Amino acid sequence: MLTGSCMCGSVAYEVDAEPGRIVHCHCATCRKAQGSAFSTVTNVPHDRFRWAKGENLIRGFESSPGKKRYFCTQCGSHIVAERAGTGTILLRMGCLDTPITQRPKVHIWRSDCASWFDPKDQLPEWQEGTAPKT
Ligand SMILES: [Zn+2]
Ligand SMILES: [Zn+2]
Repeated sequence: MLTGSCMCGSVAYEVDAEPGRIVHCHCATCRKAQGSAFSTVTNVPHDRFRWAKGENLIRGFESSPGKKRYFCTQCGSHIVAERAGTGTILLRMGCLDTPITQRPKVHIWRSDCASWFDPKDQLPEWQEGTAPKT
């Protein structure tokens, strides 16, 4: 089972399924919804998904015709999205609490990408609380 929750913890979900293909989506609406260069998402069957708590705190926003993005009205976390008629729910992977071994497979919507981010760039990693003295 997969579980996920929002930043404040008021909203949580459960899914009785494995994640589908994991993708990094660079489309403009994902960038705006997440406030970041891209959104990492996976799909699960709608009938295996259920809200575990906080359903009354969720609002949906139709970001493009037929596509609704659901977020916690208390903390703003974008938790899942749904495109009408597909039978799937798109989990925003950042809200997933279950550790998984699957890895992202593909970047999509690079035509819509942020000008300042290229996934081919290799960047250094800094440990928390440290900054190199350069
Ligand atoms: Zn929340
Ligand atoms: Zn997108």
